[in-house]
Amino acid sequence: MIKITENLNTVRQQILQSAENSSRDAAEICLLAVSKTRPADDLRQAYAAGQRDFGENYLQEGLDKIELLQDLDICWHFIGPIQSNKTRPISKSFDWVHSVDRLKIAQRLSAQRPENMPPLNICLQVNISGEASKSGVLPEDVVALANQILQLPNISLRGLMAIPSPCSDPEAQRLPFRAMSALLNEIRATNPTARLDTLSMGMTGDMTAAISEGSTMVRIGTAIFGARDYSQKA
Ligand SMILES: *Cc1c(COP(=O)(O)O)cnc(C)c1O
Repeated sequence: MIKITENLNTVRQQILQSAENSSRDAAEICLLAVSKTRPADDLRQAYAAGQRDFGENYLQEGLDKIELLQDLDICWHFIGPIQSNKTRPISKSFDWVHSVDRLKIAQRLSAQRPENMPPLNICLQVNISGEASKSGVLPEDVVALANQILQLPNISLRGLMAIPSPCSDPEAQRLPFRAMSALLNEIRATNPTARLDTLSMGMTGDMTAAISEGSTMVRIGTAIFGARDYSQKA
């Protein structure tokens, strides 16, 4: 039995502590509960404990949960890799997409966002550790891509997202997050009126380092729901 309520309170406490240690206001840090592989009832339990933002990686799994939990007032975030032929259901059913890494995807999400919905909130995923195997736009291409995406009508570019390569040293963990902050400031400098308020960074293993470098949205799975079991997945 996983103690979701207790885990959530522990994570909230850690966010408060990390914010205080870096002289930041914890109110500007949103906790995104990453619920991939977890059954809808686990999300209900987290919701009952006050959690409102949930992140899903796999489209069909996410759509199923959105359907099952439509009685709840959840803000849904898509954080997984995006295939260009799957943009329509994403643009219709989610409130945020963190994993946009090319113009074509952004154009499709904008074109397919229903007119009666508010603009879709977008983060650009940055390959901040420069790993050849990883998705994400390269740091040197971020500003140009951001400037193009800011022109699209039905999406709102809110900031940047990254998944740095794992590292256990808390000091070294801060370097890629610091580079992300600098990149966001570069985009802001050329777009002073845009609402660029989001740095989606920090997971269970590096949340504290991310907060100390300016994260405004931490994406936490394991610390809330326990270790994931992929054996049931195809
Ligand atoms: C799975 C996942 C997370 C959560 O990871 P934990 O280490 O379980 O906290 C965060 N972000 C993305 C993009 C993920 O795929």
